[in-house]
Amino acid sequence: MHEIGIVRQLVRTVTDFVSENRIGEIREVVADCGELSLVIPEYVEELYPIAAKGSILENAKLTVNVVPGLAECDDCDEIFNVVEHKGICPACGSFEKTVLSGKDFTIREIVVSDGQED
Ligand SMILES: [Zn+2]
Repeated sequence: MHEIGIVRQLVRTVTDFVSENRIGEIREVVADCGELSLVIPEYVEELYPIAAKGSILENAKLTVNVVPGLAECDDCDEIFNVVEHKGICPACGSFEKTVLSGKDFTIREIVVSDGQED
């Protein structure tokens, strides 16, 4: 399970961002978790409170968005979901493809607490 490293990195990145930008309090962090990134969102959510404890993120919520793993077929240009179709183009049956999205785990948004409800 390499998720703990990813979660620690996320906490570190946000902590650095906060100190560089002199931000007070973080309300929420939104992360994008690609279907093809081999990171399991449930593990990330489970480990987050442990990694965030004692940091600026201790009281911030983490939301993990799952980004579909999409690829374009090199032979017929069909765009399809890699996981759903087990890597095979549903239109022509080719294995040759270029992955378009869903390979990474990234921070999408850092929501700063402004003391007001939205
Ligand atoms: Zn194809």
